[in-house]
Formats: sequence, C-alpha cells, structure tokens
Amino acid sequence: MPRVDVNQCPTCGQPRGEPHKIITKRPARLSLFHLIDNNMVRATDNCWTTAAGMCQHGHYSWAVIMKMVEPSKERRTIPFFKRSLG
Ligand SMILES: [Zn+2]
Ligand SMILES: [Zn+2]
Repeated sequence: MPRVDVNQCPTCGQPRGEPHKIITKRPARLSLFHLIDNNMVRATDNCWTTAAGMCQHGHYSWAVIMKMVEPSKERRTIPFFKRSLG
C-alpha cells in the first residue's frame, strides 16, 4: 500500500470531501487591496492564486474568505516565476 493518501489534501491534510482547513494567518485587510489589484492573493494554505479563485488544492484566496471579492470557479496556483514578473 502506498503511504501517501491521495484522498487527502496535500497542504492542509483534510480528507477529500471535508472542508479545507485554514493553515495560514489571516492577513491585514489593508494589505490585500494591492494584491487584489494585481490579481494575485495568497490562498488559505499559503499558495498564491487569483483574487477571486482558489489554488489547485481547492483553497480559496484570502480575498474571497474575507468577502472582498466575489468567488469564481477558477482553480489555479500561480508559480513563483510568474509572481516575480510583477
Ligand atoms: Zn486543503
Ligand atoms: Zn494550495
């Protein structure tokens, strides 16, 4: 049997079907405005995703959690090299 459980979220450890756990600290609301403008916001598992979307693990961005933007169905993790292009 493989040791890695694929039915578990790799970032928060929740079983599939369970709500994801928030594993990062809530950011300051003010610090999110700039990130929303750039459409790059951290998800609740510390990935970067689009302001209204969720990362590939299914964690919504903090902007969605804090009801600053309407959630979309977009599921995308923004890789590091994209972020550094600014
Ligand atoms: Zn998760
Ligand atoms: Zn993630």
